[in-house]
Amino acid sequence: MSDMAAGNGTIGLTIDGRAVEVPPGATIWEAAREVGIDIPVLCHDPRLPPVGVCRVCLVDTGEKKLTASCMREAAEGMDVRTRSDRIDAARKGLVELLLSDYPTACTGAKTRDDELLALAREYGAVAMAGIPAGNGRPIDSSSPVIRVDHQACILCDRCIRACDDVQVNNVIGRTGKGYETRIGFDLDDPMGASTCVSCGECEKVCPTGALTLVDQSQAAGAGTAAGVGSSLMAGTGTRSALKQVDSVCPYCGVGCALTYWVDEASNRVVCADGRESVVNEERLCVKGRYGFDYAYHPQRLTVPLIRKETAYPKGPLSPEVEESDRRRRKPGGLVDYDDVLPHFREASWEEAIELAGRRLREIKDRNGPAAMAGFGSAKCSNEEAYLFQKLIRAGFGTNNIDHCTRLCHASSVAALLETIGSGAVTNVFGDVKNADVALIIGSNTTENHPVAATFMKQAAKSGRTKLIVVEPRHIEMADHAEVFLRIRPGTDVAMYNAWMHVLIEEDLIDHDFIADRTEGFAALEELVAAYPPEVAAEICGIDADEIRRAARLFGGADAAMVFWGMGIAQSTHGTDNARCLISLMLMTGNVGRPGTGLHPLRGQNNVQGASDAGLIPIVYPDYQKVGDPEVRAKFEAAWDTELDPEAGLTVVEIMDGALKGEILGMYMMGENPFLSDPNVNKVRKALANLEFLVVQDIFLTETAEFADVILPATTHLEKTGTYTNSDRRVQVGRKTLNPPGQAREDWRIVCDLSTALGYPMSYESPADVFAEFTSLAPSYGGLTHDNLGLTGKLWPCPDLESDGTQVLFGDRFPTPSGRGRFVPAEYTPAKESPDDEYPFILNTGRLLEHWHTGTMTRRARALHAIQPEPRVEIHPADMDRLGLVDGAWVRVESRRGSIALTAESSERVNQGSVFIPFHFREAAANVLTLDALDPYGKIPGFKFCAVRVSAAADS
Ligand code: SF4
Repeated sequence: MSDMAAGNGTIGLTIDGRAVEVPPGATIWEAAREVGIDIPVLCHDPRLPPVGVCRVCLVDTGEKKLTASCMREAAEGMDVRTRSDRIDAARKGLVELLLSDYPTACTGAKTRDDELLALAREYGAVAMAGIPAGNGRPIDSSSPVIRVDHQACILCDRCIRACDDVQVNNVIGRTGKGYETRIGFDLDDPMGASTCVSCGECEKVCPTGALTLVDQSQAAGAGTAAGVGSSLMAGTGTRSALKQVDSVCPYCGVGCALTYWVDEASNRVVCADGRESVVNEERLCVKGRYGFDYAYHPQRLTVPLIRKETAYPKGPLSPEVEESDRRRRKPGGLVDYDDVLPHFREASWEEAIELAGRRLREIKDRNGPAAMAGFGSAKCSNEEAYLFQKLIRAGFGTNNIDHCTRLCHASSVAALLETIGSGAVTNVFGDVKNADVALIIGSNTTENHPVAATFMKQAAKSGRTKLIVVEPRHIEMADHAEVFLRIRPGTDVAMYNAWMHVLIEEDLIDHDFIADRTEGFAALEELVAAYPPEVAAEICGIDADEIRRAARLFGGADAAMVFWGMGIAQSTHGTDNARCLISLMLMTGNVGRPGTGLHPLRGQNNVQGASDAGLIPIVYPDYQKVGDPEVRAKFEAAWDTELDPEAGLTVVEIMDGALKGEILGMYMMGENPFLSDPNVNKVRKALANLEFLVVQDIFLTETAEFADVILPATTHLEKTGTYTNSDRRVQVGRKTLNPPGQAREDWRIVCDLSTALGYPMSYESPADVFAEFTSLAPSYGGLTHDNLGLTGKLWPCPDLESDGTQVLFGDRFPTPSGRGRFVPAEYTPAKESPDDEYPFILNTGRLLEHWHTGTMTRRARALHAIQPEPRVEIHPADMDRLGLVDGAWVRVESRRGSIALTAESSERVNQGSVFIPFHFREAAANVLTLDALDPYGKIPGFKFCAVRVSAAADS
């Protein structure tokens, strides 16, 4: 009832004899729902304004004609009847007309009740005789996830509006005339060949059998859902027989709330729906909606494995071994189990844990805690992250603990801590609707944070919010922007210094905010004076007038938000980039109010929570510094052991340590540095150089190939735990499926291994672990599994009756002075620039359908079907110059290595730049990337290195 709250007072009416009061503007249909009366309707989506197409919601208001209740506003004193012989006859007639041309059997998997057939049953309607039936409208099976039966379409337009107004994808429309009218995709293309992004919103809202699901239960070789699931997929079962589990999506930092529908007999998820939640308002993207069947992929690890004595040798690689290893890692998709598994033998849990604990303890006793390290995972829950870092700190005795945030937002966090004293986002992404201007910078949001992007696109579509998009590639969000600046990669600092130059020059700054809430402005003012737009234009390739236009639009906003992603953070200048964005927001007073804020969009589902829980080498949980004696004393008391006072090593430093023989023993929970870290060839040598490696994962990853012990863990579907999304919202993910074989929940494995190491850990449940974590992390104070409920809470949450704190830092920043600090940054060129030998700039990133190293998404049937292989995007002019054609097999080489993959001619990239997604083992982009680090955030510059491209001789 979003429109209902607008007016004053209430309207009183009677529906079927029941009195109801509603706000002015409410429709009869909405008023009826208030008193639990469901009026049938086929065309209405309560999230959108009504359109009154189907007329099935007819009611009697005592007037001459029946009226459509979804359209008609409730009026004072109205007396409404929702059922009568007259109404029923009208509804029956409407349904019979629709049925007359309806297929006799559903052709796809209808995972919701067919609302039309349900109405037919209720009103005794049958297909009307004498109406032409079956005009041969086609079935479209071109999409891997949605089947379109045009014959079953009643033209209610719900799918069109869901596509246009909810997800703002603008793919579906109407085509044809008269009886030939039907829905069409783009220019009446087959759905699978259109620009459809397979978000499934259309299938979700379709009230008939027109848009149905392609059966997702048949993961490659995994078998089909049995019992209720299979009958539902055959279109004959009902959803009510399935188990319903409310959980959260395991992929990106948006953290969409969803419901899994589970066939318990086969231990399979049949389908997933977005749930009602402020986070996603029932929306999902293709990964959340269809990417769940990896959990029962036949390659799941189901039993502990121990490396055989005779296996692939450890230690520095000889040239011969290196060559055979290189050939073994030939192109061809996922890890070849047949190639790798013979080097391991199955073991009992007792033997595997005993061996892992004993060998790691031996290394620690012999070489000291500094020879030990651990990588946790931002895929795991807060509870698992907390326990893992506790094991590394209290059990190993070192702060050499890190995780993939290092490869993602470490530079953003470094800049945020330095300037405003907190690494947290200051406002939620949904508040973009209250911003006059939203900057979207270095973030391909529609592919990396797809549901957050729908809120941004909606805000732009409403006319309320102007988007300024800055990005080297022509991404989809650019089409929704008021201003799109196609920046030369690696030149952000010059550009934003020029924006600040313009804001100061044209007095578009907030003097009061600067005076009352900040410090260090004079130094910033002095530095940016040297960056007039004309100077920046030479560096960043954007016309000076365009720089001025963007700065003025931003400076003229009363409320502005900034969202940034890997394009800003994954740079050897990442901290400087983020410093500039923070300065921009501080000088314009755009922090601490609704519609304002700093929001580095977090990558993984729990990258915020994993950092909060202490998977960082310089801080304990809740960013409490390991170097602070008082803080350390608190954790020593809580964990009953002495702790290392020195900050630990970061991800890349740990790999360097392994290469030098300084790090000897490692424990990895859910990380796959072989693909995720820069300069893969170096990582490979580092992993091979470890004396003992324990890998805990759900699949045999590229990193697990180097393990001495592999421990089979559980997917997020098989355990309960909390996850903290990009907004700081803590939500409970609930156990949905039983784990396969002997796979165990990660928190139990960590406890067992810690005990075997000599630091006993024991908990009853994840809720127990969460209670210990929150007792040590003030920001999470008071939160429990129980009070998080179905939709979670934002931390901090001082009032547990509330939803938590949406906007942070309204009065002061958590810095010693309470003020935000300007930290000026000079532009410096990239560490490795293109030259004659390596003339292209390589940019790496994600695809919509895949996630990080592809461990899960490449094993999800639908996601793999949509994006099965890697491609390099090359500008058409460069393709011509190199004599390449679309689909050609090309070799991309940097100073660190080379990969071969197919070329895609694309104007999304600039001339002189290429783009490669980093999900694919067979063409691992990180073979090419540079491992030079940002000096503050210690993050590698994944987004920029020099490469050359040539036609590949072999494939
Ligand atoms: Fe999952 Fe992110 Fe997609 Fe939401 S937007 S469904 S959290 S991958």
